[in-house]
Amino acid sequence: MSTSNYDITIIGSGPGGYRAAVLATLRGKKAAIIEKQTWGGTCLNRGCVPKKDWHETAKWIEQSRHFEKRGVVGSALTGDMAQAWRHQHQVVETVRTSYVDYLKRLGVHLYNGTGRFLDPQRIQIQGAEGLTEIHTETTIIATGSAPSLPAGIAAVPGKVLTSDMLYDDGVPSGDRVILVGGGVIGTEFAYIFTQLGKQVEWLVHSPSLAHTQYSPQAKDALKAALAALNIHPQAGFKIARIETAGDGVKIFNDQGESVQSDWVLLATGRHAFTEGLGLENTGVTLDDRGFVRTNTMLETEEPGIYAIGDAVGPIMNANQALSDAQIVIHNLLSKEKQERDPLWVPELVYSAVELARIGMDDEAAEDQGFEPAVGFAAFETSPRALGQDDSTGFVRLLADMDSGELLGGEIVGRDAGELIHLLASSGDRDEALRKIVETRVNHPSRAEELVNATETLAARWGLEEQIFGTTD
Ligand code: FAD
Repeated sequence: MSTSNYDITIIGSGPGGYRAAVLATLRGKKAAIIEKQTWGGTCLNRGCVPKKDWHETAKWIEQSRHFEKRGVVGSALTGDMAQAWRHQHQVVETVRTSYVDYLKRLGVHLYNGTGRFLDPQRIQIQGAEGLTEIHTETTIIATGSAPSLPAGIAAVPGKVLTSDMLYDDGVPSGDRVILVGGGVIGTEFAYIFTQLGKQVEWLVHSPSLAHTQYSPQAKDALKAALAALNIHPQAGFKIARIETAGDGVKIFNDQGESVQSDWVLLATGRHAFTEGLGLENTGVTLDDRGFVRTNTMLETEEPGIYAIGDAVGPIMNANQALSDAQIVIHNLLSKEKQERDPLWVPELVYSAVELARIGMDDEAAEDQGFEPAVGFAAFETSPRALGQDDSTGFVRLLADMDSGELLGGEIVGRDAGELIHLLASSGDRDEALRKIVETRVNHPSRAEELVNATETLAARWGLEEQIFGTTD
């Protein structure tokens, strides 16, 4: 049997693996990518892409309630989650086809099957047609994550679902849903499910987004937007067991109290997925939370093996996985090395309002010895936002009072996920605020509020010189 040889092999085709394969091949390397399940990983098939498709539909339904005052009249619109599932499925299939086509056109070698290390440079692939073995100089572990369930709770198809099962299998029948979890995914689904026509009981352990760095103002804006739609988390319900006998589902807490519904969605976190990878045949180790142990350049303890994305954690989002891929390929091919800097990778929440943030929050800035000044501009007077009937939210920038260095930023409101790129791409943080005020803007646009927030830093905190330059 002849063994194929590769410069770089990537295990897992999520955003991290896909991006690494594309970049490696564009830069002249012979690359292979191995996928055991569906091309595109969690993000494309069961995460970011279908979730954003649903968020868009949810926003349309919410906005349709105000159509009449804009002069759009007719019968009221309601959500149909089963149809919304079919819509996201079509979008996902279209994107997947184009992803796979692009990889093939670039000349990436695609293997369908489960990759397992035989030793640091030999990988066995168990596919539908049997075993294949490849030899590789370098490997990138991009095996992602899998849903975590509360202790003693098991998933039951059609009744007790993870988000993976919801996107893989479809929406179960029944309109009453118990949603468990107050993290990013739970907070997004609470809004999306409600707009798509479900009656949602939302059970959370700690307050929604408690473990994120969003400012109290951002969390309050989201809470108010959810409350306006009658979406309220029920805090302090600790799940003890779930009964699935009969038609519905009953969830019990440790006091013996129960809540009943047609089905349950558990958004209770995710853990790194490394099962069956054969790591025992390499020097790669896991930390005590099960993440692949790496240094800041994403090198594992085995020379020639790197790890990226959810497999490395602890931040588990596609933006981090994409950034990791870029860093590893850059470091493999360049003398000047880059380090992982999660602080400057954007974080997003797509719920009743969009939240986006990057950089330090107030507390981290103070801990680092900066004197943070706040620049603020609300969308409530933005001509673009008013014309869109969607003026909730604001831009909040943090800058160092002495140097005028941009320390971090937060955007709350429509298109926050797009606007955050203006901060992500502002380059040298010492020059970032000047770049923002000198940006040639489109008027009227939401982006203008970034300029306005920067100007308030000059007006209120005496940062004119750092932002506009010295006056002759
Ligand atoms: P993954 O996307 O998990 O891909 C890993 C791939 O590796 C999988 O396809 C798996 O089958 C494959 N694999 C594993 N082991 C092997 C093996 N031994 N051999 C071959 N293949 C293997 N992030 C955002 O940034 N924005 C969002 O809006 C967002 N929304 C989300 C919504 C939901 C409901 C969920 C669940 C997640 C969301 N995320 C979002 C998180 C995002 O999906 C993940 O952070 C991202 O997919 C991680 O990318 P990855 O490349 O590390 O791995």
